[in-house]
Amino acid sequence: MKPAPFAYYAPTTLDEALSLLSEHGYDAKVLAGGQSLVPMMNFRIAQPAVLVDINNISDLAYINAEEGGVRVGALTRHHQSETSPVMARHAPLIYSTMPKIAYPQVRTRGTFGGSLSHADPSAELPTLTTTLDAKFRLVSQRGERWVSASEFFIGLYTTALEPDEILVEGFVPELPPRSGWSLQEVNRRKHDFALAGVAAVLTLDESGICQDARLVFLSVGDRPMYAERASNLLKGQTLTPEAIRAATELATTEEIDPGDDIHATADFRRHLAKTLCQRAIEQAHQRAQGKQ
Ligand SMILES: Cc1cc2nc3c(=O)[nH]c(=O)nc-3n(C[C@H](O)[C@H](O)[C@H](O)COP(=O)(O)OP(=O)(O)OC[C@H]3O[C@@H](n4cnc5c(N)ncnc54)[C@H](O)[C@@H]3O)c2cc1C
Repeated sequence: MKPAPFAYYAPTTLDEALSLLSEHGYDAKVLAGGQSLVPMMNFRIAQPAVLVDINNISDLAYINAEEGGVRVGALTRHHQSETSPVMARHAPLIYSTMPKIAYPQVRTRGTFGGSLSHADPSAELPTLTTTLDAKFRLVSQRGERWVSASEFFIGLYTTALEPDEILVEGFVPELPPRSGWSLQEVNRRKHDFALAGVAAVLTLDESGICQDARLVFLSVGDRPMYAERASNLLKGQTLTPEAIRAATELATTEEIDPGDDIHATADFRRHLAKTLCQRAIEQAHQRAQGKQ
């Protein structure tokens, strides 16, 4: 298939890109890595009249450490995140997960901002940024605003972005001392989108009691599914096998909403989510105790 006809612009500054989006509104789409948008255009699922290619805006690709976390530019390729010592040190959950996204060809093009803006509930970055309580800077000619990951992802391929806005960067907070993290997922073939998955982060206090916890699932709902009640259940507890089982049970019976499709039934996805959640909490707990 070939895409429907469109006008193509390749601005070299953010101001120019924002002006084009402001002028064309819902008719325009930002083009970043093109790994999702171009196939959708070829299948004519997306038929934007105007493409605003942001690849020539070179100052949108960076991974910078700063106080309390790491700042990631929208045009940062997955490959950059996968090989960045700054990411490894300040956001190891993201760093260690990147090789699970597709394969090298896709990762050399796909971008941080593109993956978040596309908001595929099976993609890893939306879930990881929700788990880490990241926030995103959205800019338009009207001004700029910071939106937390939990408010950004609204539904299936739907975000808080307005048609004249560009996601310019994200800020990912660093985990405090005595924290652990884990991403567990199952895919039929290596590098496929996950059938189900879950990310966990935990922080322990000095006596080993769970002080903070966040469990967020992928591929079992229309967005990253934050299991808030199960996460709260872990807080203030010693993470015994019983406590882990109770939180897992609550999360996977009441806080996810898996669907049936050609890849898996809802029941199978729920079953996977349960096994993976338990493993994720256990691994995060081990890491928080300095055992991994
Ligand atoms: C074969 C294949 C396998 C894949 N497997 C996985 C996988 O296992 N896990 C996974 O997480 N991902 C996977 N992906 C997705 C890929 O990793 C990219 O993250 C994804 O395609 C989107 O990034 P992009 O830069 O290509 O965005 P594009 O395709 O350019 O854009 C996607 C959407 O986001 C909008 N957009 C892009 N950037 C911005 C911005 N800065 N501000 C506002 N809107 C913006 C576009 O207008 C478009 O609507 C796979 C892709 C392919 C082709």
